[in-house]
Amino acid sequence: MSFEKLGLITPILRALETQGYTTPTPIQEQAIPVVLEKRDLLACAQTGTGKTAAFAIPILQLLYKEKQAAQAPDRHIKTLILTPTRELAIQIAENIRDYGVHTGIRHLVIFGGVSAQAQIDGLKRGTDILIATPGRLLDLWQQGHINLHYIRQFVLDEADRMLDMGFIHDVKRVITKLPQKRQTLFFSATMPDEIAGLANSILSNPEKVAV
Ligand code: AMP
Repeated sequence: MSFEKLGLITPILRALETQGYTTPTPIQEQAIPVVLEKRDLLACAQTGTGKTAAFAIPILQLLYKEKQAAQAPDRHIKTLILTPTRELAIQIAENIRDYGVHTGIRHLVIFGGVSAQAQIDGLKRGTDILIATPGRLLDLWQQGHINLHYIRQFVLDEADRMLDMGFIHDVKRVITKLPQKRQTLFFSATMPDEIAGLANSILSNPEKVAV
């Protein structure tokens, strides 16, 4: 299997080549076509399997195609990626920067434990993809800095860790603010009952992938 055969476009294939990626990992092979079809996804995958690229690459492609079809660019957040820790948020942002370098798709990362001002300035400039930890997202949303009405893709990363770290209530609150009509990609290394229940309540006819 190759990235070309998965139907990826040249700006992304070029970036993957620069990264030295030659072959999709199993999670990428299974997830990328599902995401490109705009279907919901339930993925059981650990860190190290290439799961970040499995959602980041097809999302960049969807946004790139939508941007090309749009009359004029806008500043709305179109994709929200929720992840439990600052380290993961930064890593996802770096991957999106690398894979999206030829797409012109913008991303912004926000997390707690640091001053919010630079993050607020970034939100004012606008972004296509927002990568966030749940607490800081809710804080800035409550302060009126974040508009979630235009979210079309929602990624929940490391759902089981959200539960372990005590963030699941915040995650559920965020989900209540999102448009009902959206694509949801749900990633978890394990599926304890509470996580399976959450997946069941927020996914619509998902394709299930386990690696
Ligand atoms: P992740 O599971 O998302 O934390 O990714 C684990 C590591 O694998 C990261 O350092 C990625 O840059 C790398 N990686 C992801 N996909 C591929 C691929 N198809 N080929 C080579 N390396 C990859």
